[in-house]
Amino acid sequence: MMQPSTSTSSTRPVRTRIAPSPTGFPHVGTAYIALFNLAFAKAHGGEFILRIEDTDQTRSTEQSEKMILDALRWVGLDWAEGPDIGGPHAPYRQSERSDIYKKHAEQLIENDHAFRCFCTSEELDTMRAEQMANGETPRYDGRCAHLAPEKTAQLVSEGKPNVIRMRVPTEGICQVHDMLRGTVEIPWTQVDMQVLLKTDGMPTYHLANVVDDHLMNISHVMRGEEWLNSAPKHQLLYEYFGWEMPVLCHMPLLRNPDKSKLSKRKNPTSITYYRDAGVLPEALLNYLGRMGYSMPDEAEKFTLEEMIASFDIQRVSLGGPIFDIEKLNWLNAEWLRELTPEQLKNKILEWASDSDKLTAIAAAIQPRIELLSDAVNWSGFYFQNLPDINAESFTHKSLTPEQIIEMLQLALWQLETLPTWSEENIYATLKGLAAHLDIKMRDFMAPFFIAIAGSTSSTPVMNSMAIIGADMTLTRLRHAVDVLGGLGKKKLKKLEKQAAELPDFLADK
Ligand code: GLU
Repeated sequence: MMQPSTSTSSTRPVRTRIAPSPTGFPHVGTAYIALFNLAFAKAHGGEFILRIEDTDQTRSTEQSEKMILDALRWVGLDWAEGPDIGGPHAPYRQSERSDIYKKHAEQLIENDHAFRCFCTSEELDTMRAEQMANGETPRYDGRCAHLAPEKTAQLVSEGKPNVIRMRVPTEGICQVHDMLRGTVEIPWTQVDMQVLLKTDGMPTYHLANVVDDHLMNISHVMRGEEWLNSAPKHQLLYEYFGWEMPVLCHMPLLRNPDKSKLSKRKNPTSITYYRDAGVLPEALLNYLGRMGYSMPDEAEKFTLEEMIASFDIQRVSLGGPIFDIEKLNWLNAEWLRELTPEQLKNKILEWASDSDKLTAIAAAIQPRIELLSDAVNWSGFYFQNLPDINAESFTHKSLTPEQIIEMLQLALWQLETLPTWSEENIYATLKGLAAHLDIKMRDFMAPFFIAIAGSTSSTPVMNSMAIIGADMTLTRLRHAVDVLGGLGKKKLKKLEKQAAELPDFLADK
């Protein structure tokens, strides 16, 4: 059996990839990882490709895939192969490759590296509950790992639903080699008998990821450090298949200024938000290039080409890099100041000239304007970053500040999970929430006007929310909650409970 590569270098042509799961908005962390994959590939004369990991069919959406591709392209990261442009290893969307994974999972069974597990979810729940009650870490206990082949065959012929799990050693230490960390040791007892193929025949991330990285000739896997603990499973799968293991490199996670993991509660995390707020793509890329990385001459402002020209992965430092909007804005200003007025004018026009958005704004302000010049006042907030508001702006005759903050927060959580961002879905959500809280729609909507448009005399606010998009809307709602003083820990807990009990307002859609 071929041993997985133990070195941190590879003799293969360099090929790296970004493999986003289309389950939400385009996260700055995705652009960050993509940037380092691209810089590494280009610096070694290699190629950078894009693969969509949409094996979680309940959470993956086409809208999210489109937003992610658009955002990565906007920021200036181009891929040589991908679902949109094809390539020699097509298809590049995992949902279109299920036969390949099935075949490989069955091959693992034939070689006794995997087994069929017939446990029902109730059985697994009971098993976990018992383990937790005994103070053990919940994990699959291997009860189907040694079923007699005849028994397995019989259950399969009876049509009993089953998953395929990989076998893992029950003792010893797995050594994983990482370009930035050297050898990392993870005891096999911490590694679960991972499900590789689910009951519905779809693969899990682990199987699909390994099979595709191999079939797509990926030489270096550079990804977020949250995947480090999965590396033993992947390494074992490479060994089982007898394939050469790509070199691993786990990048540090981006952090909020308070050092916690970058989260949208504390910072906008969507690339689309930064685009809409008016950050230049080259400045965002430059800022991401400084996350845990420094140029040999310590330069603060540099282009992607400059970064590639001197790129050295060993210059990545593992201390959690802090994503600080104020520093990003400062850097963006540096980029803006360097432009000629003519160039700046072009940048502004380019930023503001999304034709569909402008048409939607024109339709919204049309009934309200007498002169074209009135458009300036009526449409300003569509282009703004955050409206200029304070706690007093929300004063309302029948709603208390406490009520307002709760309404905004509940709406925020609901809107965050909309499968499709549309006026129709926004309406169903807010109307449902108002009815549920027994607040008249007119009163309920007032704080949303303030949060989004900065004033109650504005174009219809749900239409505005649809036009400015999910990321800008959610950022403004979060800002409104902050401006109103935020929620204390206790209140937050109570509200989270209330949120969990809310009905599905989109149910009849
Ligand atoms: N689909 C995974 C993600 O979205 C990819 C992780 C990896 O690069 O292996 O993070």
